[in-house]
Amino acid sequence: MADDGLIRPLIAGNWKMNGRRADGVALASELVRQVRRSGSTDLHGDLVICPPATLLATLAEIVADSPVQLGAQDCHHSASGAHTGDVSAVMLVDAGCRYVIVGHSERRTDHGESDEQVRAKAEAANAAGLRAIVCLGETEAQRARGETLAVVERQFRASLPAAATAGNTVIAYEPVWAIGTGKVPTPAEIAAVHAQLRTLACNQMTDGKRLRLLYGGSVKPGNAAEILAVANVNGALVGGASLSAGDFWAIARSCP
Ligand code: PEP
Repeated sequence: MADDGLIRPLIAGNWKMNGRRADGVALASELVRQVRRSGSTDLHGDLVICPPATLLATLAEIVADSPVQLGAQDCHHSASGAHTGDVSAVMLVDAGCRYVIVGHSERRTDHGESDEQVRAKAEAANAAGLRAIVCLGETEAQRARGETLAVVERQFRASLPAAATAGNTVIAYEPVWAIGTGKVPTPAEIAAVHAQLRTLACNQMTDGKRLRLLYGGSVKPGNAAEILAVANVNGALVGGASLSAGDFWAIARSCP
């Protein structure tokens, strides 16, 4: 089952734990400048940057009235309370966010986040009015054992809220072994996973045909066009290359 080609692509930049205030302001300002200079004809989708939480409120002012939207990298599953060091989805909305990444493999690994916790975060995000970008993907060992499709299916079923829709949820397929490594699956491998995700989405959601399915893992200006042309790939989650305004904008302009 393929998408109908009418899905608006999404290019999201995950800055991870990078950037002090001056760096973030410079990067976001340069991106806004390049997008404005190119004009809207070059932008065939939505553009989101996900800076560290410390920069959100400042960068909200910089991207205001531009095509660049703001997202966060994580949220807590509660709206408020005694959770030292955490940030809630409600607070992210207050800071100007429209999206939040949940279940990134670095959080699943560094913080032991389970599928159930990821689902609770996505539910909190949706309840606050944010679109959740739910990440999933197999490790190198799982891939070597031929478990890719099984892992992705299990994570999809367990990490998505029951009320997930194409309007409040985005899936990012990110093979763990491809993140930050320069290694990328073949277009055929990406197509196989995304075809399965489309089928799962259509089985679970009435509007699953329109769910945005991003690919993430070592997307660069040099490989973006090929990846973004794969069936059922509706955008990209970009890590390292999103730290360069020129590279990130070049990737965004590669959207078919
Ligand atoms: C990511 O961290 O989500 C990611 C895709 O990183 P990179 O593009 O650097 O592989």
